[in-house]
Formats: sequence, C-alpha cells, structure tokens
Amino acid sequence: MTKKTLNREKQNPCSWCGRLTWMEQMQLPETPILEFMEEKIDKYGRNRIWGEDGDWSSQDLDSDFEAELLVYDQMLCNISPKVVCINCLKDDDELWEKYYNDDDNFEIEFDGLD
Ligand SMILES: [Zn+2]
Repeated sequence: MTKKTLNREKQNPCSWCGRLTWMEQMQLPETPILEFMEEKIDKYGRNRIWGEDGDWSSQDLDSDFEAELLVYDQMLCNISPKVVCINCLKDDDELWEKYYNDDDNFEIEFDGLD
C-alpha cells in the first residue's frame, strides 16, 4: 500500500478513521464533525437545537434523532488527547467552517461534488 518503506513503529492509528499517521497527540473531541448529523440538524432547524437556550431536549424531537443528538453532543464535548491524521483534521476544519463559523460567508468548494 505504501510506496515508501516507512517506520511504522512511530506511527499511530488515527482515532477517527484508523489510518496510520505521523501526527502528534492533540486535544480533540471524540468524534469529528459529522456531515450527516449536521445536515439533520439543519433540516430540523439549527437555531432550534443549538439556539440560545440550547435546550433541545425540551423540544419535540423525534426520539431517535434526539438519542443521536445526545450521543453526538457528548462526543463533541468530550475532549482528550488523541492522535488524528491530517486528512481528518482538514475535513473537520472544513466542516466546522461550513456549519459553525457564521462570522463570515465562508464557502467551501468540494472537488468532484455536484
Ligand atoms: Zn484520520
């Protein structure tokens, strides 16, 4: 798989995708931003869920969705030192910009995606 012979001893599996990476440990949440979750959140109404009360548990949510949100929210809040590869960090950064950075009109273009 690898073109060069790498010293695998020094690589660690990425906590998010499992690929071996040379990255050092960083303080990161248990899960990257998940686009399918963010799309569901958008569909329901982001402000109603992450709005000023932030009390989406009192909303009339579909119970499956509520359970998913609960797990997702907990995993995003659960930050600990972990090794994550550069690809995951880049994807996570782009998704963060897309879904959470409202301050500017950041637009991402995905190559090969309609
Ligand atoms: Zn990764």
